[in-house]
Amino acid sequence: MPGDTFVGKFVPLVHKMEKVGKNVVFSFDKQTGTITQKQMRTSMDIRIPRTEKKRVVIVGGGFAGIKLVNKIDSRRYQIVLIDRNNYHQFPPLLYQVASGGLEPGSICFPFRKLFHREKDFYFRMADVQKIVPEENRIVTSIGDLDYDYLILAGGTTTNYYGNRAIEEHALPMKEVREALTLRTSLLLNLENALDDEDKQERRSLLNVVIVGGGATGVEIAGAIAEMKRFIVPKDYPDLETRMHVYLIEGTDRLLGVMSESASRHAKKYLEDMRVRILLGKLVTDFRDGAVVLNDGQTISTQALIWVSGVTAVRFEGIPKEKTGRGGRILVDAYNRLVGSENIFVVGDLCLQVQPGYPNGHPQVAQVAIQQGRCLAHNLNRIAQGKTPREFHYKDYGTMATVGRNKAVADFGKVHVHGFFAWAMWLVIHLRSILGVRNKLAVLLDWMWNYLTYDHSSRFIFFRPKKDETMG
Ligand SMILES: Cc1cc2nc3c(=O)[nH]c(=O)nc-3n(C[C@H](O)[C@H](O)[C@H](O)COP(=O)(O)OP(=O)(O)OC[C@H]3O[C@@H](n4cnc5c(N)ncnc54)[C@H](O)[C@@H]3O)c2cc1C
Repeated sequence: MPGDTFVGKFVPLVHKMEKVGKNVVFSFDKQTGTITQKQMRTSMDIRIPRTEKKRVVIVGGGFAGIKLVNKIDSRRYQIVLIDRNNYHQFPPLLYQVASGGLEPGSICFPFRKLFHREKDFYFRMADVQKIVPEENRIVTSIGDLDYDYLILAGGTTTNYYGNRAIEEHALPMKEVREALTLRTSLLLNLENALDDEDKQERRSLLNVVIVGGGATGVEIAGAIAEMKRFIVPKDYPDLETRMHVYLIEGTDRLLGVMSESASRHAKKYLEDMRVRILLGKLVTDFRDGAVVLNDGQTISTQALIWVSGVTAVRFEGIPKEKTGRGGRILVDAYNRLVGSENIFVVGDLCLQVQPGYPNGHPQVAQVAIQQGRCLAHNLNRIAQGKTPREFHYKDYGTMATVGRNKAVADFGKVHVHGFFAWAMWLVIHLRSILGVRNKLAVLLDWMWNYLTYDHSSRFIFFRPKKDETMG
């Protein structure tokens, strides 16, 4: 869509929005003209005072959401961030929390601390349940909130492809809480295996089955293989049965979105680490304590790690015809929800078809960050009466780490692997973590782990509920 058409449509919209905003404001106190929080609030409203500035509501404080808060000009807009958690997390290092290499606090940052210097900024911890576009209103677990601009940045959730048995038994790894449950389950299985007299049961406790051979599957497989090699023999010298790590992938290669060279090297590294890789196999069920494959093979396990795919989070009020592959919400080149004037969608949640990306952009952090930045600039430009700009993704490359000194990276046609790729991976990820304290904590843990071949975070703080584990 050419920029001038966009502005032509947008300017009337802005006036309309002002009216909507003012209607809301004046309907509560037309006579005095003063607006107080209490006067505005109905029993169901979130208590955030309206000002003369337009309100931008951002749903989701992931990579896209925090970039938006940072870049939207708070002199021109009131900004409200809503997230179901009170912290931002750094998913690329979740697997290190799950395998005991890092503490969860090192990869999280509280929103209130992150934005305590922002002016006219409000954070609310709530679950956004429904969008009511006709009324410019969202419905959340703590009440309703009206908006002038709404930005959906809710990301994705684990996709079980409708398989209830797998959903009930699998250990996902999408959030810090899940990574901690996974870590606890692995450690509990080791403890339980020591005293179990049944050999078959012991084998099942010590089989770790990872489903999904993308970057997350490869990384967690490598981390558990290292745990098996360097930590288990020291911590559990009396363990009689061997631990086995399986990695199952439905296609014929690991790291399908990366180059053939990256796939080949990752496979070789994992095989050297004694990970049993099964390619071209689909997990169809979980029955009688075992994973069932499409060829009939079964692997008994009490640790089924499911990192096989994601699906967009759902918001009631977004019609199905405005969603595409993976439930992602269809947007135009400005990240605007198709057919809407003041609702935008960014990051993993959106599906933006552009030249070179017929199925949308890859669901990675850089896309979310760049879309967040571009949309913030566009809102700032709109506030100044300027033309917004289309989003164009700049691909800086893709990386995955397999273990100590072992990583693979693609930078366009250049493919790197081994120590150099691993060192680059460390530097890039360390730079991306929020907060100086977190950076130092991660660096210290990494140095300690590297020098001692040991992980310090091997605590069992809680016993996961029956429905959160396979036990
Ligand atoms: C284990 C793992 C490893 C990864 N590794 C890499 C990597 O190495 N490199 C890379 O580039 N990418 C990686 N990714 C992908 C990357 O994390 C995502 O592409 C990125 O996080 C997308 O950012 P986002 O802002 O769109 O969504 P997210 O970061 O997912 O943030 C969404 C936010 O919305 C909130 N939310 C969701 N629904 C609601 C609701 N209804 N109400 C309120 N709040 C809600 C969530 O709490 C969350 O804070 C990884 C992902 C995972 C899970």
